[in-house]
Amino acid sequence: MIQKMATEELDRFGEKIIEGFKLSDDDLRALLSLEFEEELEKLYYVARKVRNYYFGNRVFLNCFIYFSTYCKNQCSFCYYNCKNEINRYRLTGEEVKEMCKALKGAGFHMIDLTMGEDPYYYDDPDRFVELVRTVKEELGLPIMISPGVMDDSTLLKAREEGANFFALYQETYDRELYGKLRVGQSFEGRFNARRFAKEQGYCIEDGILTGVGNDIESTLISLKGMKANNPDMVRVMTFLPQEGTPLEGFSDSSKLSELKIIAILRLMFPECLIPASLDLEGIDGMVHRLNAGANIVTSILPDSRLEGVANYDRGMEERDRDVTSVVKRLKVMGMEPAPQAEFERVLGC
Ligand code: SF4
Repeated sequence: MIQKMATEELDRFGEKIIEGFKLSDDDLRALLSLEFEEELEKLYYVARKVRNYYFGNRVFLNCFIYFSTYCKNQCSFCYYNCKNEINRYRLTGEEVKEMCKALKGAGFHMIDLTMGEDPYYYDDPDRFVELVRTVKEELGLPIMISPGVMDDSTLLKAREEGANFFALYQETYDRELYGKLRVGQSFEGRFNARRFAKEQGYCIEDGILTGVGNDIESTLISLKGMKANNPDMVRVMTFLPQEGTPLEGFSDSSKLSELKIIAILRLMFPECLIPASLDLEGIDGMVHRLNAGANIVTSILPDSRLEGVANYDRGMEERDRDVTSVVKRLKVMGMEPAPQAEFERVLGC
């Protein structure tokens, strides 16, 4: 399909997507099978065309506050799983408040409050709600919460305190693979928490991992699984083997690159937020992801001592994950941060 298209045909393909054309399963298989750089460039070209139609050269910036790295779960892919003997931290409410004070006027569109499923908060979820209140009072910005599978009542309370976005990644909709990744956790429980949040007026983010034993068919299942959720943000992230975890030595042979899937996501979800994460390759990686059709930069750290989701830069002295460096590089690319009002229009809040 796309391999043989000349520029005019690629433009027409992008226009068809904007007009509402839906890719069939076979279309998706064909796109997931692309391998050669020249054909992938054509895919990125169409994805950028669609992204630019809705968002122009404007990009959103998400501030990542990983406030607790404690977790009761044992996801096989995750550095923070409870079996891994690592140094952990939990910021106090006062520390989060101080961090927010320092973030005033920094240029973020949204603050992402993330934690592992930390028993300290799961035993008394009002502590988490209190944190949401503090961040809203200090910054007044949209808040994304990524607390794991929180109970419905806590999600409601957090919404009342001003949380706008609920991020909860299924990682895969291939149930067999899910059992290997999210060890001992309910597939439906995750799905239902996201659905409940959406019904209560949250925007929701779903996400999948690639490079973790997923082939084309498994990826197709996941793409369609995300579609069924009607998400507002869709993420794909490459699995990075983590020291001390069951998948530490895993090596993937598929050609299902994150960039290819980002571009396909843009064609499937033309108006959605699609992250360009700094987690795997920092700001250089952000450029590739934006060029594949992403439009929100995530895992920008407010403080270089905090963790990201994955950390290509763990232990490095210089961590190039601050908002100033991001904006500087966006300018080089001919892109710029969107006005806050534009982000709030996207959120519908
Ligand atoms: S992915 Fe989340 S829930 Fe799973 S172990 Fe890591 S922090 Fe815990």
